Amino acid sequence: RFTTRASPQPLTNADELIDSVQTFIFDCDGVIWKGDKLIDGVPETLDLLRSKGKRLVFVTNNSTKSRKQYGKKFETLGLNVNEEEIFASSFAVAAYLKSINFPKDKKVYVIGEEGILKELELAGYQYLGGPEDGGKKIDLKPGFLMEHDENVGAVVVGFDRNFNYYKIQYGTLCIRENPGCLFIATNRDAVTHLTDAQEWAGGGSMVGAIRGSTQREPLVVGKPSTFMMDYLANEFGILKSQICMVGDRLDTDILFGQNGGCKTLLVLSGVTTLSVLQSPNNSIQPDFYTNKISDFLSLKAT
Ligand code: PLP
Ligand code: CA
Repeated sequence: RFTTRASPQPLTNADELIDSVQTFIFDCDGVIWKGDKLIDGVPETLDLLRSKGKRLVFVTNNSTKSRKQYGKKFETLGLNVNEEEIFASSFAVAAYLKSINFPKDKKVYVIGEEGILKELELAGYQYLGGPEDGGKKIDLKPGFLMEHDENVGAVVVGFDRNFNYYKIQYGTLCIRENPGCLFIATNRDAVTHLTDAQEWAGGGSMVGAIRGSTQREPLVVGKPSTFMMDYLANEFGILKSQICMVGDRLDTDILFGQNGGCKTLLVLSGVTTLSVLQSPNNSIQPDFYTNKISDFLSLKAT
């Protein structure tokens, strides 16, 4: 599919954009918060949109927390957001397995953190792996053979700060040796901003290791794949043309919105700078851009 897009416009009339859609999908990190810090003016902006009757949905590629844990985070930050409005890539894994009727007698091997485990548990799936898996040293004496569970029908890979060689080998064995075993990735973000001082290796690095050893491509459930978009459009009965996707990242958020046929707004409160947006090397152009979502409060028609 080849489309030509006009170069992005700075948002000058927020009311016009707000009136043109029914739903706003907000990316979280870089839009709502930065790490654990709320971005200026967010509560007032969400209040304004709710008072205008807009549906608000929050989508994050960060799989380390469950929907419930994100609910707590919103609450701690003083934001009035319901768990059902939150779509994290951890939740997307369980939703995807449900959507394909993944058998409950099969198991899921998880390379990732607590969020994925909690969502699988809630959905009633059997799993193994998780953060503490394979902490001990592998003893490669002659003849050593790693056993694996032949009942694993899906390997899920997300961001994992305890990633190790055992996990790579275990996941690889399942994918290569269990017939029909799925390879699912929560997201493929190259980098994340764990601290504001530096970029850190993102979930894409763990996914890349398993791609390397299996020579298989994962099925991605997070942004920019359309799975979550289709899921929530279906869940809430909303038309994608009635959605504005708001994010700070071109290759996940803005692409996610464009893949879904939504309007797109890039905010400069996260990872993307104006010079990256305007660089001739950038092929992903949002419809609009602005500094931060609280610009909705001040950008009125003149
Ligand atoms: N993955 C991890 C591990 C992260 O720490 C972050 C951001 O903090 C992300 C993904 C991206 O999250 P979002 O989609 O909310 O920008
Ligand atoms: Ca983001």
